[in-house]
Amino acid sequence: MIKAKHKPIESIGEMAAPYRRVLVLGCNTCTAVSLAGGEKEVGLLSSTLRLRNAGKGKNQEFQEFVVKRQCEMEFLEEARELIQETDVVLSLACGVGMNCVADNFPDTPVLPGNDTAFLGLSPELGQFTERCVACGDCLIHLTGGLCPLARCAKRLLNGPCGGSEEGHCEISPDVPCIWHKIYDRMRALGQLDKLSVVVPVREWSMNDAIGPRSFVREDLTVQTGQGE
Ligand code: SF4
Ligand code: SF4
Repeated sequence: MIKAKHKPIESIGEMAAPYRRVLVLGCNTCTAVSLAGGEKEVGLLSSTLRLRNAGKGKNQEFQEFVVKRQCEMEFLEEARELIQETDVVLSLACGVGMNCVADNFPDTPVLPGNDTAFLGLSPELGQFTERCVACGDCLIHLTGGLCPLARCAKRLLNGPCGGSEEGHCEISPDVPCIWHKIYDRMRALGQLDKLSVVVPVREWSMNDAIGPRSFVREDLTVQTGQGE
């Protein structure tokens, strides 16, 4: 899932300062799982901003609402009236959700309450770690399902750099060397032969194109008659 975390409260307060009515808009999918965008976080952030304002004698109104997913217009429809009537949306979605609000509500400013971090998971409560950089050309069938692009500090694709110590990365000693893990896993799976496949230089235009990346599923556009 997409992982995100709140911006510092002072920075959020400053961004929102010029607006009287602020709609704090949560997202009950990825950022809720990151503990940065669900009902609880929307309520906590709104209360913190109210308290911060009370100390300054500032007259500002914070409304709270959470949609299932901010990145889909179908769910944003539930908040249409609130978004159109507020002075600003303070979004607790990821950047995709924030862009979706901006694309569909041209008259309402949108502020980022979160910093969108990466595609990852949460191994333990309060810990978040990256697992995929969305390179656009997945190769983990050659690496035991473990992604060296996201998990190797040097993004090496054809084996380790040789600098690891006792299974830990030489760049970040608190992180396992992913190539050490890949080797162990491939050996356990009886697939060490796959490690002799030389992965060619990446076609980074799939990842770093000029302008937004996009793709079309012809099978779906035929059914719905839609597509971009
Ligand atoms: S190779 Fe890694 S970064 Fe690329 S799609 Fe697969 S998991 Fe994601
Ligand atoms: S020690 Fe392992 S994870 Fe770290 S940079 Fe070298 S190969 Fe990559």
